[in-house]
Amino acid sequence: MEFKKFLSFLGPPGCGKGTQAPKVTDKYQLQFLSTGDVFRQAIKDETDLGKKAKDFVSNGKLVPDSIVIDMISERIFEEVKKTEGILFDGFPRTYTQAIALDKMLQKFRARVHAVISFDVPDSVLFERITGRLTHIPSGRTYHKTFKPPKIPMKDDVTGEDLVQRKDDTPEYLTRRLKEFHENADLIKDHYRKLGVLISVNANQSINSVTNEVLTSINKLLK
Ligand code: ADP
Ligand code: AMP
Repeated sequence: MEFKKFLSFLGPPGCGKGTQAPKVTDKYQLQFLSTGDVFRQAIKDETDLGKKAKDFVSNGKLVPDSIVIDMISERIFEEVKKTEGILFDGFPRTYTQAIALDKMLQKFRARVHAVISFDVPDSVLFERITGRLTHIPSGRTYHKTFKPPKIPMKDDVTGEDLVQRKDDTPEYLTRRLKEFHENADLIKDHYRKLGVLISVNANQSINSVTNEVLTSINKLLK
């Protein structure tokens, strides 16, 4: 376990975490674990987890820490067996979750190797979020203007329907951004002290962000 790598993408909704993730998971052979994707699929499948998370997710509120931490601790060691490590997207999202993750990993003499903070002004996120199209089963995202699917409203890989998420509206985005900013500084301070925080400029083209993300992870994982 101590040789496994644990990375996290930290940034506001719509900053490009899900878009960039496949480049990193492919390069470093990591398992991708997006807590948002897990909750959306659980809600769709009407599982116990889905029932617990539904009201929070559909109102753009954070799911309580205890539910998130239980879910991660149930999955993390099964997921990590499959690959060289895990790339988390949207986790940890509170200081309490960050401390819980450290504790889970310490048991196996593992640690968080890199936290990539996606820096982008809030004003940019409204256009990104309101134009986002999502393939729920895979979590793949597109954008009506910036990254259109090959066939309108269909996933490029499976041909299945794309949807506009119910929480991808300006009203819910405002609420989700407030929650993000209330928590982000404490999480960043924590990882900065551990020497694993990297900031990237997420307000540039998708390819330029990819280059910056890969270059900075490469430096930290050396
Ligand atoms: P997150 O996972 O951080 O919530 P996404 O990766 O889903 O964000 O990106 C949000 C939306 O913005 C998507 O529609 C995506 O296609 C688009 N997008 C992502 N990165 C960029 C970028 N650098 N420039 C323009 N649009 C982008
Ligand atoms: P995302 O797909 O990352 O935008 O997440 C969608 C929604 O899932 C959020 O608005 C929250 O309701 C919930 N969620 C995802 N990850 C977490 C987390 N780590 N802690 C609390 N709630 C979360």
